[in-house]
Amino acid sequence: MAALHSYVNGDWHVPSDGGMPVHDAVTGEEVARISSAGIDMAAVLDHGRRRGGPALAELTFHQRAALLKSLASYLREHREELYALSARTGATLGDSTFDVDGGIGVLFSYSSKGRRELPNDTVYVEGPVEPLGKGGTFVGQHVCTPLRGVAVQINAFNFPVWGPLEKFAPAFLAGVPSVIKPATQTAYLTHRLVELMVSSGLLPEGSVQLICGGVGDLFDHLTDQDLVSFTGSAATGQRLRTHPVVAANSVRFTVEADSLNCSILGPDTEPGSAEFDLFVKQLVTEMTVKAGQKCTAIRRALVPANRIDDVVAAATARLAKVVVGNPASPEVRMGALASLEQREEVRRSLKALLEAGTLVYGDPERVEVVDADPERGAFLSPLLLRCDDPDQPQPHEVEAFGPVSTVLPYQTTAQAVDLARRGRGSLAGSVVTADTDFAREVVLGAASRHGRMLVLNRHNAQENTGHGSPLPALVHGGPGRAGGGEEMGGVRGVLHHMQRTAVQADPAVLSAITGQWVTGAPRNTGDQHPFRKYLEELRVGDTVVAGPRRVTMEDIEHFAEFTGDTFYAHTDEEAARANPFFDGRVAHGYLVVSFAAGLFVDPDPGPVLANYGLENLRFLTPTYPGDEITVTMTAKQITPRVGAEHGEVRWDVDVTNQDGASVAKYDVLTLVAKRPGEQG
Ligand code: NDP
Repeated sequence: MAALHSYVNGDWHVPSDGGMPVHDAVTGEEVARISSAGIDMAAVLDHGRRRGGPALAELTFHQRAALLKSLASYLREHREELYALSARTGATLGDSTFDVDGGIGVLFSYSSKGRRELPNDTVYVEGPVEPLGKGGTFVGQHVCTPLRGVAVQINAFNFPVWGPLEKFAPAFLAGVPSVIKPATQTAYLTHRLVELMVSSGLLPEGSVQLICGGVGDLFDHLTDQDLVSFTGSAATGQRLRTHPVVAANSVRFTVEADSLNCSILGPDTEPGSAEFDLFVKQLVTEMTVKAGQKCTAIRRALVPANRIDDVVAAATARLAKVVVGNPASPEVRMGALASLEQREEVRRSLKALLEAGTLVYGDPERVEVVDADPERGAFLSPLLLRCDDPDQPQPHEVEAFGPVSTVLPYQTTAQAVDLARRGRGSLAGSVVTADTDFAREVVLGAASRHGRMLVLNRHNAQENTGHGSPLPALVHGGPGRAGGGEEMGGVRGVLHHMQRTAVQADPAVLSAITGQWVTGAPRNTGDQHPFRKYLEELRVGDTVVAGPRRVTMEDIEHFAEFTGDTFYAHTDEEAARANPFFDGRVAHGYLVVSFAAGLFVDPDPGPVLANYGLENLRFLTPTYPGDEITVTMTAKQITPRVGAEHGEVRWDVDVTNQDGASVAKYDVLTLVAKRPGEQG
């Protein structure tokens, strides 16, 4: 059998040796051979930096987001063949959808986040402008720009599609090229995924490369601009993190490693209650999905001491219904482990766990399988242990990376928290309870050792995504033993691939650098009203100044009557005077905002299509009857929408009174048309 090719330097590389065999997890047949022999690793990194990086740098966040969406749709059309290969890794169809559809879902999700939360630009401006001098001539702001290196992504064997895609999506959106290195055992599936990504023709050359096999001397060529994202065993993570080049060049290094995740049953849960059933069902699901080969799987089930017998009885009854075997058979609920070696590894870990607990379900040496040879395929029974002394160290230290969990009792809430924390850093934890106080105490008590915590009960049971499911919008990773890294988490995952730089300058220069108008930067009030300009004609700094308008007592009374807002500060002179902030009746803030709109508007039909909101509204100085207000409205940020006939314009609005004091400040958000026929 020919060895898998790697995609490097813009071409499919044929290994210079025969490679080592990789076997089908179900039948034991050889699926592929794998080797990276002959790849020049320095050249791979160089190709990413010289071709991929610059090509991505030419695209805005929105353009990259649009490509991610097209890629996701393309992969979705080809998912059947990914499922078919996935079955050879031992995965059931359910497991495969988790991996394949989950991975495609991450692309869709990042595409949507990119369009909604990032600008249609190549620089991300983070946080507000910080005034640094009293006179307003010296200000600071943070900008994020992509690292000019390569994201080296080392993946574990258990999620050959989701794993690479959850790392690729944020890197691509940030503008950083990826080098994907799959785990040997399931590399043939990632190989097909990358073949599809390349053949889609959507991705700029150099933005994705694939190394099948070992990475050779690649780490020796890493620079300060490269990143490594690693998923796998804590031991390998540790070894790679301490590579001298990684240390010397401060290479950003994220580790997502195996952890001893727990699920805690609340003391409020009677057997037969909704929460009790949810707990048991979730425990069994976590043991059997992907045959328990999930970094987030529940390894420790912590239950009130007086419920341990009930939980064990309910869980074993449920496990007895799990049919193990060839994932191609429709009745099969749990497939094989990824390899025979992995099964041996789990059996070894089980021996250590049995020093502390007893087996209450399953036999590590024997399992009835459907439609497959139990010895040639890497099949293993689900194995449930019970450990009545929760202070034994093994359940909190030994991870059997397979369908293995231990049930442990706790007496008090404090003890439940203490046991949860004994995993010394977990990716995910769950608390199954309808008791809000218990949930708060456990979540806050255990949070500093958890990356993610799910509180599950009858109220969210229908919609809940499960203990183990990482979500693109939320952080995936955990402290301590879990590696100390963070992946995904929405835009956080994108920013991880970018350098944050504090820029200090005068407002005009800062505005020119960020592309956003800031207070103190020049304004253009010279030509026509900005509402008469199409998106392409509008410039940051285009301003309309309108007013003054006198605000009268009749206006205030009319507004109070008309809207029903008769709050005393607007209607009762004496009561208003007693208020520490006012010297008598004041205008409604909303009246000021409404008058401001009446002042700055250009009413005739034109390029401005709609006002879709206000942000950051603050009322700063009271407006008294007789005050005169003036409004200054300035185009602050212009965001063309890729493929749409309009874009978004954020306007800075400053309403001032006759003394020049700001009465109200806010951003107005509008949709503005592109010139007819312009959609790009
Ligand atoms: P490893 O840590 O050995 O491998 C993980 C990844 O690292 C693979 O892609 C592997 O490639 C690669 N790798 C290994 N050594 C090097 C190296 N020197 N330089 C660069 N890359 C390297 O984990 P396994 O996949 O073998 O799984 C072992 C254990 O890890 C499991 O039993 C489980 O406990 C844990 N695990 C944790 C996961 C998690 O998500 N947190 C997921 C999977 C496993 P190659 O395969 O080619 O060696």
